[in-house]
Amino acid sequence: MNLDKFRQQIEEVRQRGQFLQNRVTQSPTFQEDLVLQAIEELSTALEELRVAEEELHQQNEQLHIANQQVALERQRYQELFDFAPDGYLVTNTEGKILEVNQAAAQLLNISKSFLVGKALINFIPEEERRAFRNQLLELSQMQRIQEWEIRLQPRNGNIFDASLSVTSVLASEDKLLGLRWLVRDITSRKQAEEKLRSIQQENLELQETARIKTQMMSVLSHELRTPLNSILGFSQLLLHRYYNLFPPELRDMIERITRSGKHLLGLIENMLDFSKLERDRLQLNIQEFNLVELVTATTEELRCLAEQKNLTLVLHANIENPIVVNDSVRLRQVLVNLVSNAIKFTDTGGVFVEVDQHNQDQVMLMVKDTGIGIPESELTHIFQEFWQVDKSTTRKYGGIGLGLAIADKLVRLMNGTITVESNLGEGSTFRLLLPRNVET
Ligand code: ADP
Repeated sequence: MNLDKFRQQIEEVRQRGQFLQNRVTQSPTFQEDLVLQAIEELSTALEELRVAEEELHQQNEQLHIANQQVALERQRYQELFDFAPDGYLVTNTEGKILEVNQAAAQLLNISKSFLVGKALINFIPEEERRAFRNQLLELSQMQRIQEWEIRLQPRNGNIFDASLSVTSVLASEDKLLGLRWLVRDITSRKQAEEKLRSIQQENLELQETARIKTQMMSVLSHELRTPLNSILGFSQLLLHRYYNLFPPELRDMIERITRSGKHLLGLIENMLDFSKLERDRLQLNIQEFNLVELVTATTEELRCLAEQKNLTLVLHANIENPIVVNDSVRLRQVLVNLVSNAIKFTDTGGVFVEVDQHNQDQVMLMVKDTGIGIPESELTHIFQEFWQVDKSTTRKYGGIGLGLAIADKLVRLMNGTITVESNLGEGSTFRLLLPRNVET
């Protein structure tokens, strides 16, 4: 039963009472009948009122229960609101704070009770207030803003990066009641983003530097190679044609020019190879050849170097089928580097070269010396470009630290591996494992 119906019933009772009273005043002779009628009317009316009252009572109880439920829900919402990990605020449309949770109060470094009634703009740094105001004005049309990044200024605290998500609270379709704000501190996210950006930037710069470096190496080597080749050509021509005409000192000088020129040419070729390998521009020229013959010929070419230092140079081949499929020129280049390094870094004893059958599909090449050895901490670095164990090595032994980097890249291109074992002062052992056929 609703209140209107109850009022209507009371009105009906009142009207009946009035009707009876009117009849009593109009015809006083029939009073006995009228009294009886009035009593009956009244008892009916009373009965109706009692029913109505009962109904009202019941409704009241239901209302009470519903009220309790609403209060419980409200409390649950309040707890969720208060203890949510993110900051929540409710403001009116002008941004005046009406409700605020614990996390938001913490972020703004001010207690909840002080926050209520304050304008949110107080916590925006001055230089961003205009943008904030404009955005606030636009909010009435937008209904929702996601992840609006802005800086917040807590009371007596440091400005921090925050993200605001705002939803409008509507009374009806076009009546805006207020705004609900979700406030998040995104300082660490921003820092991570910034770090990522700077790493990406550094990476790009490094890539660019590496690209310029290889490009420079390639251009420089080309530029140097041409005049050097003509110097070498002319000095060799002089030696061959006019050898007998020159006095011994002059011959010696021209021979020195040729030797240094060849050495320089070797370095330049190395730089060119390396820049080609770096840019994946080097292709293997694959054919079938006899590995033992190649290793023997290469070792013999270098024998005079070993003899100049009174070192032994021993070759041992232990392979049934020496035929392999690979790039013989590039393999020779790797071997020359390993054997000449072994000779270069050995003062007493000698160099031992071995060719072995590792398994059915792989062959093994080993170059072992009794030289100065390599410290353990350096073993992982020596295949890096321009790496030399002792920085005075360049002056003492020559070289620029490209040989092993090229060897490593070439061996990888051949689908093989190169490893090193060494003990300082006791010598080094370089091992190559290569597929018998690099094409399979
Ligand atoms: P380079 O010989 O031109 O300096 P490499 O790349 O061939 O360049 O070698 C890099 C460095 O590795 C050498 O400078 C040297 O320090 C070390 N190294 C290479 N081979 C040997 C070896 N057999 N014994 C000792 N050290 C070696």
